[in-house]
Amino acid sequence: MTTPDPLPALIAPFVDDPGRAVLLTDFDGTLADIVDDPASARPRPGVTSVLAKLASRYARVWVVSGRPVAFLLTCLAGTGVRLSGLYGLEWVEGEEIVTHPDAERWRATVADAAARAEAAGPDRMRTEHKGLSVTFHYRGEPELREQVRAWAEGEAARTGLVVHLARMSFELRPPVDRDKGTAVVDAGAGMAAVCFLGDDAGDLPAFDALDRLAAAGAHALRVGVRSREAPAELLDRADVVVDGPAGVVLLLEKLAGP
Ligand SMILES: [Mg+2]
Repeated sequence: MTTPDPLPALIAPFVDDPGRAVLLTDFDGTLADIVDDPASARPRPGVTSVLAKLASRYARVWVVSGRPVAFLLTCLAGTGVRLSGLYGLEWVEGEEIVTHPDAERWRATVADAAARAEAAGPDRMRTEHKGLSVTFHYRGEPELREQVRAWAEGEAARTGLVVHLARMSFELRPPVDRDKGTAVVDAGAGMAAVCFLGDDAGDLPAFDALDRLAAAGAHALRVGVRSREAPAELLDRADVVVDGPAGVVLLLEKLAGP
């Protein structure tokens, strides 16, 4: 006897009633393959067309990323999806990039932390200044991890910025209560079905928020994207696990319906 495929039942509330359904997705590792040079990341083939189709059918389709929203615009402008960058500290409204008012006053502090890291941070740590956040990468240099963590924690103590664990990196962000979980709560308010797709530790707050929406009666779908670097906790908590961004495209096509 074969086990029935659970996927159709999991996605039916979305496909059958997209006007009361929301999709939120991460970008790197989810819509785009992970690459060594973050600037060269691009959506997988098929992503922009399926996002446009979803945006025309669903109540809300949001991309929520740790990237600056200006970068997301270069990849996803014209799809009709809402773009939210720096974990919700900035987003696009019409043609304009809007920043969270509580985060804006930290811009100079973040710039100072980025400059200090360039000048005096651990050797081979790579600093990515994103405007309202700064990321310290150890990609390709796993032995640097604890040095990079110590640097980030020291800078957080000095500045009041907050350390977040990210993919092969530590990130300093303003102490503003925005993450992928608050995005899920905002987008999912009043909706019957809410889905989030992600591949990394920064996506766990979105799964936490889905747990709360599910407890309140919504149909929640947690999609984990498998990769070499995907944390076990994320995959364990996922209702559906897909293989890399290519698997995401196949799932999004199913969610878009016929
Ligand atoms: Mg990711």
